[in-house]
Amino acid sequence: MSGTHREHYLKVLGIDLWVPRRPAAPTTVRPAAPAAVPPAAQSAAPAMAPSDPAAEQGWAQLRAEVAACTRCPLHATRTQGVLGVGDVHAQWLVVGEAPGAEEDRQGEPFVGRAGQLLDAMLRAIGLARGDNVYIANVLKSRPPGNRDPRPEEVASCLPYLRRQIALIRPRVILAVGRIAAQNLLATDAPLARLRGRVHSFGELNTPLVVTYHPAYLLRTPADKRKAWDDLKFARDLFRRTAAASERL
Ligand code: URA
Repeated sequence: MSGTHREHYLKVLGIDLWVPRRPAAPTTVRPAAPAAVPPAAQSAAPAMAPSDPAAEQGWAQLRAEVAACTRCPLHATRTQGVLGVGDVHAQWLVVGEAPGAEEDRQGEPFVGRAGQLLDAMLRAIGLARGDNVYIANVLKSRPPGNRDPRPEEVASCLPYLRRQIALIRPRVILAVGRIAAQNLLATDAPLARLRGRVHSFGELNTPLVVTYHPAYLLRTPADKRKAWDDLKFARDLFRRTAAASERL
């Protein structure tokens, strides 16, 4: 991405690039300790080939099951199940909470205002929806009134996300928001404690990084700078895992 484009997306994120700095005081620069790369990231299997019939069948089955799903009461109030969107061979997987009203209508995750900010966040680290990124939610059905997902709804729906992950085999998962992070990591720790660390998800030990939900950032723009730190952290992790797998 060109510098001008990156500046544009950082501006959308509300991050000024041109804040005048005070003359730098002499400092001792200590190299930051690299975050540990979970073993799975070092041995990440390549994504399934586009013509892999088993993968194609896996996706077709998932789509059909989610469309017809009645595992939890949300099926009665949703317009449609929202499986996910993007590149099924992506190295990045973004996981949000649940479809909102617009997502429920359109059948695609993150299509409202929060989605526009999510796209800008992705572009700031050189990614674009549908190109090396897949976007999904913990829940595939919209909770009425956009209330938080209930534990039994998450328990019913999480197997779908696990199957998506098994098919995509992403190199890095970016969990956006407290609800996604807590449910994926099976913890009630606050978001502030989950940020800035490499977690690991599922049987494949996929490295997982946590950041703020774009809807929260729209309400709390002062935290966009911290979100930018998280995105750089995730991008650096991604680069390290890519370099590690090239060395194998
Ligand atoms: N918020 C989410 O977490 N997911 C969506 O798809 C839309 C808004």
